Amino acid sequence: MPGEIFVITAPSGTGKTTLLQALLAADPRLQFSISYTTRPPRPGEIEGKDYFFVTPAEFQRLRDQGALVEWVEQFGYGYGTSRDWVNQTIETGADLVFDLDSRGARALKNEFPQGTYIFILPPGPGALQQRLQARGPLEPAELKRRLQQGEAELKEVHCYDFLVINDDFPQALEQLKAIILAARCRTSRLWPQLALRFTSDPG
Ligand code: ADP
Ligand code: 5GP
Repeated sequence: MPGEIFVITAPSGTGKTTLLQALLAADPRLQFSISYTTRPPRPGEIEGKDYFFVTPAEFQRLRDQGALVEWVEQFGYGYGTSRDWVNQTIETGADLVFDLDSRGARALKNEFPQGTYIFILPPGPGALQQRLQARGPLEPAELKRRLQQGEAELKEVHCYDFLVINDDFPQALEQLKAIILAARCRTSRLWPQLALRFTSDPG
């Protein structure tokens, strides 16, 4: 059975990366979709684990070759997902979790409409700004850009299957786990396998 696709979007600073790390640590069937980016690594970020860090020239070459299933330019940097890597990983049966902005999520939905699309909200704008600043120093212009982009992303929430509010962290994590469990139990996923066991006519 091919793996499932879970796409998670949130305004920058919501706590998505922290939630994803906890989710991945708790569920060995989940694999993180590692994006390419031209952004420099933040302290603690690891090449080949958090991102593939590439130069703008390398990123452009990947883009021009059609090697990216989706890509965006944001905050002055390129971010994109490898087409081959996604297809090969799903074929192994692993469930893939994507951390994408809303444009990337929309592009991926065109290619993988069967995926599960989840939007994470901060408790409010004040908490979002606090969390963005708690993560490390940000130029005032970049802080403003990230807050403005977050506001724009909120307009897209209706395109997602599920909403999770990251106020109380353990509760938000439980909600994410429950969504993943439910998606794995979808009839469209299970019945093609189970039909053979229960009927002589799988139609
Ligand atoms: P994102 O990936 O969405 O940009 P991060 O995961 O980097 O955000 O989190 C931004 C900051 O918010 C980090 O300092 C993180 O520890 C903190 N944070 C995450 N979730 C919560 C929460 N539920 N309550 C308070 N702080 C949180
Ligand atoms: P950050 O610089 O904080 O790691 O990420 C900034 C934004 O880029 C986040 O909203 C994150 O979801 C998004 N992002 C990370 N990788 C990709 C990608 O491959 N494609 C797209 N479209 N967005 C990405």
